[in-house]
Amino acid sequence: MTHPNSQAPAAAVLVINSGSSSVKYALFENQNTHASLQGAAERIGTADAFIQWKLGEQQQKLNTAHAKVAEILELVFEQVKNHLGDLSLLTAVGHRVVHGGEHFSAPCLITDDNLAKLSSLSHLAPLHNPANLQAIEIIGQQYPKLAQVAVFDTAFHQSMPEKAFRYALPNAFYRQHGIRRYGFHGTSHQFVAGQTVEKLQLDPSQHGLIVAHLGNGCSATAVVNGQSRDTSMGFTPLEGLMMGTRSGDLDPSILLFMQQQLGMSPEAISHCLNKESGLLGISEYSNDMRSLLQAQAQGNPLAQLAIDMFVYRLAKTIAGLAVALPQFDALVFTGGIGENSAPIRELCVQQLHLLGLKLDREQNLCHGQDQQGLISQASSRVRVAVIATNEEWHIAAQTQALVQS
Ligand code: ADP
Repeated sequence: MTHPNSQAPAAAVLVINSGSSSVKYALFENQNTHASLQGAAERIGTADAFIQWKLGEQQQKLNTAHAKVAEILELVFEQVKNHLGDLSLLTAVGHRVVHGGEHFSAPCLITDDNLAKLSSLSHLAPLHNPANLQAIEIIGQQYPKLAQVAVFDTAFHQSMPEKAFRYALPNAFYRQHGIRRYGFHGTSHQFVAGQTVEKLQLDPSQHGLIVAHLGNGCSATAVVNGQSRDTSMGFTPLEGLMMGTRSGDLDPSILLFMQQQLGMSPEAISHCLNKESGLLGISEYSNDMRSLLQAQAQGNPLAQLAIDMFVYRLAKTIAGLAVALPQFDALVFTGGIGENSAPIRELCVQQLHLLGLKLDREQNLCHGQDQQGLISQASSRVRVAVIATNEEWHIAAQTQALVQS
């Protein structure tokens, strides 16, 4: 499948998403929105590390015990070279970089200057940005002539007005320490908003949308005329919606209680809020929505509670974000849960009935397949749609566009 109306890579672009112990990668060629080569190296540096990849229909897996990130990247480039026949056919590498702070409101070409700016932002995302930077530096040393581009999770949200991005803390926390709401999942929100405008034939210069990206991480964004005006994630991806293992919004005093009354260390609190909470913490069963829906159908009361909380908090956030819109044209679901789970969409739209949303149940069941993703009734005050995200392709397209310009 190709997106003829969107700016698309004309040659080969390698997209890299490098984490603290994993490297995910995808190679996009010409205008194809599907990666020709796609893979992931997991548990890097450990005894049970491995890399697995898919080339067309062919799947392969290799043990990479104790291999370092540089060796993993070398393996990835070997695969790219084998597939393309010649590495000079690789136009550029696009990196998913989690945090661009206030410096970056768009993707940037990696230069010494931009690399220095990026390094200065590591304290804002200490678990993610250093890993992104490491991959950029290794590839820069190995292939100095190859263009590299950083595409930021935060950049799309730099258009939020100050009233939306500030916390009501004394100003010094923002001015001296950069404590503000940044928002994340920007690549997905931007891509899905663009697709929605095309598919629902909205006016590109006059529309208001709410995009709900519901995967393991979840966030919702109010988009006005192609720009983010508010979003549910904040200083970190922990704020906002209830997620697979993340708590989302909490009374901040709970953290003090955990520390002072329960004697928990900062590390233990962080682990609890990021890894043990959300759907997993409430259900005591799974962080995976599919498993929870099955457990709920079998009468598991905690799975039921986890789903009820997830949906209620999602609808409450969507209703809250509606205040950022001058007009509410469409609510759009995306991400693994948003694209695949008809029951979650139905429950969420039911909870939003006061806003005049009316679901077409049949279309919802087939994810709007027959109607460009549309799953609402003609009489619905706000249209409701399912639009698949393709963050990696969007990173490739943005990388290609920047390199060409
Ligand atoms: P990530 O944020 O890691 O990219 P995904 O976007 O793939 O994650 O979303 C993962 C979530 O999507 C999981 O909770 C999974 O259960 C859910 N999901 C995938 N398919 C379905 C489905 N058919 N029904 C319900 N949930 C689904």
